[in-house]
Amino acid sequence: MQSPSIVYRFKNGLYINLTNRCPNLCAFCIKTKWHMQFNGYNLDLQGKEPSAQEVLALLDKEMHTPCQEVVFCGYGEPTMRLDALLEIGRALKKRADYPSFKVRLNTNGLGNLINKRDIVPDLKTAVDIVNVSLNAQNETLWRQIVRPAPGYEDGFKSVLDFLKKCAAAGFTRVAASCVDNTGADPQAVKALAASCGAAFNEREYLDEQ
Ligand code: SF4
Repeated sequence: MQSPSIVYRFKNGLYINLTNRCPNLCAFCIKTKWHMQFNGYNLDLQGKEPSAQEVLALLDKEMHTPCQEVVFCGYGEPTMRLDALLEIGRALKKRADYPSFKVRLNTNGLGNLINKRDIVPDLKTAVDIVNVSLNAQNETLWRQIVRPAPGYEDGFKSVLDFLKKCAAAGFTRVAASCVDNTGADPQAVKALAASCGAAFNEREYLDEQ
């Protein structure tokens, strides 16, 4: 099997695959139906999560080719590895070539519940852009679509609170997203995002690789 990709390129970004763990099992998640593959990369870390230093060394090798963004994404929830995320983000912001690129976090918005504290002040020191996968305009639908693990069933309120805190914290951009064709109403999700002070991104439902 192809060795796991920890840092991978997609469009104008360099993506960091920090973990495969996630408290959700979203109905639209491509990690299972694409067998942990993405655009020719194998994102299955096989339980071996990279250290912050390992990620920074791999980024160093890639940064010679310009990128617009470095993105915490991968097939998992990056805030499951908050310490590593913060170490990497803060190191990136100290680089001589920063701010020619932005640092973005793609998250399910459950970081405060996962880490049992408000992580937004720490995130502010490490990332520029926060994209929250909101995916529903109400709690019932959210549970149906993102299928949270036990202990996270009431997470919708926490996601909204996280979104509001991020919007108030002064990041370069804070946006909520909704995947289309899942049963959610993108316009209602957009309105909910706006009520939290966030912008909105509609995302395409990915089916065929
Ligand atoms: S939050 Fe992201 S990684 Fe987790 S199940 Fe949903 S789409 Fe997949």
